[in-house]
Amino acid sequence: MGVDLNLESFEFKGIINKRPLVIAGPCSAETEEQVMETARQLSQIGVKIFRAGLWKPRTRPNAFEGVGKIGLPWLKRVKEETGLLTATEVANVKHVYEALKAGIDILWVGARTTANPFAVQEIAETLKGVDIPVMVKNPVNPDTELWIGALERLNNAGITKLAAVHRGFCIYSQTFYRNHPQWQIPIELKRRIPTLPIITDPSHICGNRDLLFEISQKAMDLNFDGLIIETHVNPDKAWSDAHQQITPKVLKELLNNLVLRKANVDNAMLLSTLEEMRHEIDKYDDRLVKILEARMAVSRKIGIYKKKNNITILQTSRWDEILRKRIEEAEKIGLSEEFIVKLFRAIHQESINHQTKVMNAKDVDLDNKISYPTEML
Ligand code: PEP
Ligand code: MN
Repeated sequence: MGVDLNLESFEFKGIINKRPLVIAGPCSAETEEQVMETARQLSQIGVKIFRAGLWKPRTRPNAFEGVGKIGLPWLKRVKEETGLLTATEVANVKHVYEALKAGIDILWVGARTTANPFAVQEIAETLKGVDIPVMVKNPVNPDTELWIGALERLNNAGITKLAAVHRGFCIYSQTFYRNHPQWQIPIELKRRIPTLPIITDPSHICGNRDLLFEISQKAMDLNFDGLIIETHVNPDKAWSDAHQQITPKVLKELLNNLVLRKANVDNAMLLSTLEEMRHEIDKYDDRLVKILEARMAVSRKIGIYKKKNNITILQTSRWDEILRKRIEEAEKIGLSEEFIVKLFRAIHQESINHQTKVMNAKDVDLDNKISYPTEML
């Protein structure tokens, strides 16, 4: 289940040792003055890594598509005058050559590029033999394997300083996020590759300034490693992503307000109390699994009955009734409707799978009584 990547510590002269690793700078480099002034202010508030997009992947062709390589000397100047390390997005072989030639310190692969294995492979091959840190943004679609695939392609090409950037996902249903965070995906990534640093990008998740703090705090509470936040000296006038950018001053407040909790507990007393509570949780989880096992056995029994009487699996009115009843109950005990709907959808789908299997099995003995555990019912 784990993914075997050969990773070196994603550490820049000790900078990343401090949680959170903060990367800040404008969505796009616009002018030399805007780049330099933003960098100066960021350096004053203690930021060590400067981001700026030069080649901007835009959804529609008439939007500002970045200044391109003329911005590279600006980033060089940032490094010389402020000491900030510089990071930019690369989407093709040409970008990689230009960025390396200009001495950019860190590259990142954007969300649209991660979704394209051919592009990632080309970038990876161009980077063979180059010891540069690369950050890989999650693909636009919520696909953990595709994200891992991009990391593997780079790692296979010898890139060992890798980090993942969680920038949220395009999902079908409308939400108030620009890109839905789907926290379970970066959590799964962390589970599969525990040594891979995860940097959350609240700017592209939110699409506005209102929820930046909340998303940043959540990333810290999940023990993610860093934050990449779009910052501009004059956000309202930004040429791209104006709604989500903040000034270095606001960024400073945001960072000061973050509560950083301990990831590991070393106090024996705290640890044993936690252990006890975790044990309690485990007991409930055991019971939940047993109940689900019993419920699926009943589903299979129903499947046999339906097969015998030639009835379809899905009866919408019954499903509606289950959902309505459970939402009503959930509200009373403080469980959110969103959670209950998700939970029962998953249970219902699993039931359908069990019934389908039974109904389509060639050798089901229709008179055979299925035994199922009753102790939990
Ligand atoms: C960006 O960081 O400016 C950017 C284009 O992000 P994404 O690839 O996540 O859309
Ligand atoms: Mn942007």
